[in-house]
Amino acid sequence: TADVLTFGETMLSLQTEGPLTTGSPARTAVAGAESNVAVGLARLGHRVSWAGRLGADEPARLVLRTLRGEGVDVRHATTDPEAPTGALMRERLAGDVTRVHYWRAGSAASRQRPEHLTTALAEGARILHVTGITCALGPGPLATVAEAVEYGREHGWTVVLDVNHRARLWEAEEAARVLRRLRGCVDVVIASDDELPLIAGDDGADETARVTELLAAGAREVVVKRGGDGADVYGADGRHLHQPAHRVPVVDTVGAGDAFCAGYLSGLLDGLAPADRLRRAATTGAFAVAARGDWEGLPHRDELALLNAPAGSALR
Ligand code: ATP
Repeated sequence: TADVLTFGETMLSLQTEGPLTTGSPARTAVAGAESNVAVGLARLGHRVSWAGRLGADEPARLVLRTLRGEGVDVRHATTDPEAPTGALMRERLAGDVTRVHYWRAGSAASRQRPEHLTTALAEGARILHVTGITCALGPGPLATVAEAVEYGREHGWTVVLDVNHRARLWEAEEAARVLRRLRGCVDVVIASDDELPLIAGDDGADETARVTELLAAGAREVVVKRGGDGADVYGADGRHLHQPAHRVPVVDTVGAGDAFCAGYLSGLLDGLAPADRLRRAATTGAFAVAARGDWEGLPHRDELALLNAPAGSALR
């Protein structure tokens, strides 16, 4: 049994040093929200399985080698012989402005179907982690998420949905319709404050009203992320806690939400109290923004306390 089962699209990520049109060199890496969370959890010592779908190609080999190297179980990842692994490019323009290009339409991950997840589900897990990104990839991935959350709910797993809205993949109206259908099977909803209206009341309601709606729909907890302003957790027991963000030099905010999610799930697995898991989430989120890369800067368990070290400390 895994601690956490997750799946979604993980892609080849090319990161250029400058504009593509001038032939800038690029670095190769691996990117995907769910695999970022998986790496974060594995580094904290949890048993995590990533069961996404990849092409039969070299980017897939890089994805698998990277995840394996990070200690993520990829035995349930599947291969589509007829479609490529998706790719994206972060093109560095002037200063720290970047432009992102995607080649994911028709990718192997967009062809994932429920039967590709059967063995992963049968093996069991304590937590199922899914995101709105997978729901946006197409009917097959959406059906896979829908069946997985139902399976998880029936088998007493903790089902966690990170809304992770990607406006490039689908319209807000469709996202709202789809995400609201999943609510009955979700125990923990994680959303940034601007994503909350997608999954709950968008008719001028305030945050409290939206959270109340989600808790009434069956969630046990709602976690709201606010970037540099920290995060809040609301519980079905009426509890509301706020956690400020750590003050760290911001190097690259990509992946903060996934890092935060990994920290929160780690806290759930360790049986921490809500305030303590929120604190761990803020810590892993801060590690992500303080380092370049989507997941490269995530902390190992023995590094969690480093954020409290005085600035300029040297570890000997
Ligand atoms: P992304 O989509 O970029 O991954 P997100 O919108 O899902 O991000 P955020 O709310 O930006 O998630 O960040 C999640 C958490 O990471 C925050 O609650 C906070 O704890 C931490 N974090 C984000 N930005 C900063 C920052 N500038 N300084 C310190 N911590 C930060």
